[in-house]
Amino acid sequence: MEYSTQMEAARKGIITDEMKIVSEKEHISMDKLIGLMAEGKVIIPCNKNHKAISPNGLGSMLKTKINVNLGTSRDMIDLDMEFAKVKSAVDMGAEAIMDLSSYGDTRKFRRHLTENCPAMIGTVPIYDAVVYYHKPLIKITSQEWIDIVRMHAEDGVDFMTIHCGINKETAHKFKKNKRLTNIVSRGGSIIFAWMEMTGEENPFYEHFDEILEICREYDVTLSLGDACRPGCLKDATDASQIEELITLGELTRRAWEKDVQIMIEGPGHMPMNQIAANMEIQKTLCNSAPFYVLGPIVTDVAPGYDHITSAIGGAMAAANGACFLCYVTPAEHLRLPDIDDVKEGIIATKIAAHAADIAKGVPKAMDWDNEMSLARKKLDWERMFELSIDPEKARRYRASSKPEKEDTCSMCGNFCAVKNMNRILDGEIVSIFDE
Ligand code: SF4
Repeated sequence: MEYSTQMEAARKGIITDEMKIVSEKEHISMDKLIGLMAEGKVIIPCNKNHKAISPNGLGSMLKTKINVNLGTSRDMIDLDMEFAKVKSAVDMGAEAIMDLSSYGDTRKFRRHLTENCPAMIGTVPIYDAVVYYHKPLIKITSQEWIDIVRMHAEDGVDFMTIHCGINKETAHKFKKNKRLTNIVSRGGSIIFAWMEMTGEENPFYEHFDEILEICREYDVTLSLGDACRPGCLKDATDASQIEELITLGELTRRAWEKDVQIMIEGPGHMPMNQIAANMEIQKTLCNSAPFYVLGPIVTDVAPGYDHITSAIGGAMAAANGACFLCYVTPAEHLRLPDIDDVKEGIIATKIAAHAADIAKGVPKAMDWDNEMSLARKKLDWERMFELSIDPEKARRYRASSKPEKEDTCSMCGNFCAVKNMNRILDGEIVSIFDE
């Protein structure tokens, strides 16, 4: 092959099969797509060993994509149940699945995903290292952390979260500038603890060049993890978060020198008035690399409803340049999500992504809304169900409260504005009172 990564292909002017698919899906010309990919502003995460993938592009000018986190944990090791959740997530339109398994035979689950799942597959090798080596954290060596990255690459993972921004300098800044909720990133807390206990530099930062070689070989996209993402509104945009982002910007440029595709992970918990500014800071510090946001959750007081708090933040972030939203479920902060939580989280995140796409003028994004509005005007309930983001729920709601007249709903009955306007504009008499 004349190229190692999609970025290298773009820089050499080679049109790959993956680019053709993305160009068609996104209604974007090949020339424009290749230009954006060569600059790192658009990426197509697709490991050479992930044969089942249906490729997708990530970039602020493309349709906003969503990721669903799944995987086993010590308290939930039913592989079949996790596979069922993956299938339902993909059926509902998730473009990416992050396998965050932290218990049991994680390799079996991961390989099953890359053999069968058309969505992009992401992982966080730090979690897996702890399970795989089956020994205390302090005993894991620098080289062993990197070996796990290679294993995930061989298994066909398309993108990996690597917590390489929290080096000794960032850790020092974090300890000097006290936070209300410390480090809330799972991977970030693990690597911080390892650095504190061993006194060594973060291996993902120290051996970044070796990681780049692995990524180049398999075309793995690096998702530069935000260990210092704020875990509460009060910690948003603080010194640790910005210090880490500066480091991620430097690492982005190093990755691009080796044609490795990059995205940057972002906050976290954040007040609404800081979101647009944070997107601008990221664009500036990281040369407009695609931005992947985890939330942002816009208030800390809604456990049970954090799919809503994060959909608000996600919509604002995406409208201001983020291109990839990690779903949050109602179970966030409370428990591992069940299959209903997964559904609620996906729908909420899809709404946020779609609303943002309309706001930023993604080609054809509003066609869907226009079709729905036309069906509403015609009071064509079947068509409305078909077009609904959650057809099953829409159908169930209407069936649960049947109107007296089929061409209205039980909200207004005879007072139905849509029906009455259609009739009066058709020259009919509208009485309402005795109909
Ligand atoms: S009855 Fe009211 S809510 Fe229902 S379709 Fe007509 S105008 Fe809309």
